[in-house]
Amino acid sequence: MTVAKTMALAALVLVSTPSYAQKVQDRLPSPDIVARDPRLPPKEFDKPFVGKGALIVIRVTWEQLPLFCSVAPKGRSTLGCTVRKDDDCLVYILRPSSLEAYQRYYPDYTYDLIFRHERGHCNGAQHDENGVWRK
Ligand SMILES: [Zn+2]
Repeated sequence: MTVAKTMALAALVLVSTPSYAQKVQDRLPSPDIVARDPRLPPKEFDKPFVGKGALIVIRVTWEQLPLFCSVAPKGRSTLGCTVRKDDDCLVYILRPSSLEAYQRYYPDYTYDLIFRHERGHCNGAQHDENGVWRK
């Protein structure tokens, strides 16, 4: 056995020993302790679209957004919205150049976050005017 193979085998044994795995697990935060982003829908709605039709994403400019989406409450911005159309769910989200301009000030408003929020609405989630999800 070459030195390299011996080293590789030793590393494999180290990684696979329960005490090493336990130490790694101890350093990871428990999923129950990490706070869920309140902008995300409740877990039961945060999944692929469950409707009969299609979920269709339409990227729009700031100017187009009010044509499809209601105005956000004071102090908040509308970055996307959802419109049910028969069995389909239309998701309007700012187009990349507009969203990137917004993200210069609010970098944590990612496309993924906005999409998952809106997809939650497509799946039936609702929230009040303060953004608190209704159970
Ligand atoms: Zn919403």
